[in-house]
Amino acid sequence: GNYGHSPAVYPSPNITGVGGWEDALTKARAFVAELTPAEKADMVTGQPGPCVGNIVAIPRLGFKGLCLQDGPLSLRNADYASVFAAGISIASTWDKEAMYQRGLAMGKEFKAKGAHVLLGPVAGPLGRSAYAGRNWEGFSPDPYLTGHAMELTIRGHQDAGVQATPKHFIANEQEIMRNPAFNPNGTLTDHLQAAISSNLDDRTMHELYLWPFANAIHAKAASIMCSYQRINGSYGCQNSKTLNGILKEELGFQGYVMSDWGATHSGVSAIEAGLDMDMPGGLGAAGMTWTASYFGENVTTALTNGTLAESRLDDMILRVMAPYYWLGQDREDFPSIDPSSADLNTFSPAPTWQRVFNLTGPRSRDVRADHGELIRKHGAAATILVKNTNQTLPLKAPKSIGVFGNDAGDITQGFLNQKDYEFGTLTAGGGSGTGRLSYLITPLAAITQRAKQDNALVQQWLNNTLIATSDVRDLWVPTPPEVCLVFLKTWATEGDDRYFLKVDWDGDKVVESVASQCNNTVVVTHSSGINTLPWADHPNVTAIILSHFPGQESGNSLVDILYGDVNPSGKLPYTIAKNGSDYNAPLTTGLHTDGFEDWQSWFDEKLEIDYRYFDAHNISVLYEFGHGLSYTTFELGGLTAETLVDGAVTSKPEQLPIQPGGNPALWETIYNVTVPVSNTGGVDGAAVPQLYVTFPTSTPEGTPPRQLRGFEKIFLKAGETKDVSFELQRRDLSFWDIISQEWLIPTGEFTLSVGFSSRDLKQFTKLSPVV
Ligand code: BGC
Repeated sequence: GNYGHSPAVYPSPNITGVGGWEDALTKARAFVAELTPAEKADMVTGQPGPCVGNIVAIPRLGFKGLCLQDGPLSLRNADYASVFAAGISIASTWDKEAMYQRGLAMGKEFKAKGAHVLLGPVAGPLGRSAYAGRNWEGFSPDPYLTGHAMELTIRGHQDAGVQATPKHFIANEQEIMRNPAFNPNGTLTDHLQAAISSNLDDRTMHELYLWPFANAIHAKAASIMCSYQRINGSYGCQNSKTLNGILKEELGFQGYVMSDWGATHSGVSAIEAGLDMDMPGGLGAAGMTWTASYFGENVTTALTNGTLAESRLDDMILRVMAPYYWLGQDREDFPSIDPSSADLNTFSPAPTWQRVFNLTGPRSRDVRADHGELIRKHGAAATILVKNTNQTLPLKAPKSIGVFGNDAGDITQGFLNQKDYEFGTLTAGGGSGTGRLSYLITPLAAITQRAKQDNALVQQWLNNTLIATSDVRDLWVPTPPEVCLVFLKTWATEGDDRYFLKVDWDGDKVVESVASQCNNTVVVTHSSGINTLPWADHPNVTAIILSHFPGQESGNSLVDILYGDVNPSGKLPYTIAKNGSDYNAPLTTGLHTDGFEDWQSWFDEKLEIDYRYFDAHNISVLYEFGHGLSYTTFELGGLTAETLVDGAVTSKPEQLPIQPGGNPALWETIYNVTVPVSNTGGVDGAAVPQLYVTFPTSTPEGTPPRQLRGFEKIFLKAGETKDVSFELQRRDLSFWDIISQEWLIPTGEFTLSVGFSSRDLKQFTKLSPVV
């Protein structure tokens, strides 16, 4: 099952236009036929310019160039753009409609600012390790939940007319040593140590890390960004197995592979392995040396001397141009690049430009429309209530409120959050995936505003050191607040991983200090991901809310939940363990050796990440995957499973012509599972019934005990009952067979379990599709 090394797969498959790009491909062919060799090189090589990635215009052919912009939660290099809920937050909604609407609204903003390509969404990292610095940019360590989030986000982006770039392909699960180490006294190509290699077996690749990318291709993503690190010994952007083999052949990907910024380490070799576009175009780890490129003039040279076949170069450009035409980006009315974006671009500021970019359109366009309302709604839908004793929440018009912690109030250092600043509520992590806020509703501001309705006393202590080291009774004289709201934050950023799972800024001590004297302590976290919550069972901690990075309306979203205007319905997209040391799959860190090949990350846990691991080893957890409370109660009726296939189901899928997403037979719904869901409490609210599949005992060893294969968010009035249906696709009941290189449905009996979390399963049924 181990690749051992990454096998060679050549040649790079050609685009066919299958799946609806046929007409666009015809237009792309006509375009390519007009290009000179130098123009061909330009079409596949980035240039310093107004956007974070740029393909130059060819005015002679009416081509205005391509503007590529970050990132997965906002157009970072922009003013008057929205900061949306981060990936991890929208995943916490478990709401397919919200995932799509967010993707659509983001796409509209990118387009209105003149961006052709949005550098997102993220499924790599998937979240193998709780510590990885970029998990928050993606969705969830569960591939099925992430798969849906990918597909819906991409459809949203592309329905708005913007190309999506799912990234980083693939197994990009840590930041430390994601790039090679360079010899400080040598040349830029002189590597001291190769980047980390993610070493994983074929089954783990398919069932875990590739799964959500398959959804992305199925959604007809225009582009894929290959990753910095190596996969089984070969760099992500010159790995012929993953690019030619898996992406273009097996999954039928029709778009183009672009390199992560500076992830290209060769010219012709990378091109033949499947890389179609070099970003940002210049040489070097950070891509900051613009004077030389592995592509650029080297492409024309390779063409002239015959090392590079013209047909391959043409295919690269066809792959770039087919989605461009398909999305109508050639239309005259496609917006020009907002000049303010160029000014905010610190990566390739104007003095670095080597080519001419005419920035003609209006400056500082406000593209936010009414997205603030959507963001407020999504932020509330993403809020996870994990503990609520004595019905502390919703608040019942408290007359005295204490607000504690440095995460409650205003940010004090501008609107681009690139550092773990002490003061200010957190709405995003750092790096290319952050956002530039145009405004921020803080929890303190929103609470103050809302509490006025009750003529309440609102007092705040925002200095963590003060709170942690004080006897809080001295702070809140004369009487304790009726409710003490403690705000905690946890930073993470691209370029580094987390060193601990506890909350930042001594937050645990802040909680202990407040809870020691306040018997109604409500804790709210804004976090990049998994935290240990050592005070969770403290009797005075009556409620715990996990908000992750909810977006620019953060405070409003929270107040909607706190006061019960919105009934909480967010669910954990990962597991919270009892202790940090309970998590498996550690990152590879702290290797104080200098061997060229030393950085190896062995994915020995295989399919057992997050709840798959905890379930397989019967480890008790604090809050399980899928958990989240409501102000009402829900119940489930009996399950019915209906087969949609005439006759027996075959183990092997029918071999149909490949479409984007691979063999279409894998995407066929073969069962419909229906369950009635009732709101049995006194308040309207949304439930998230979840379906988990247990595979038959005939399935190869290492299959997790239960895997998520269905979820729906359903709104129910108090007392109401509705049927919820889950569509099980062939892929959902298959495992990846390394021998036949096929998705097979195993013989024997499956158990389907439906409940309200991965460990709160209520209804069961059995299926034996293949006899
Ligand atoms: C990141 C990408 C990002 C690119 C451009 C890279 O460092 O890994 O996610 O899109 O920079 O900013």
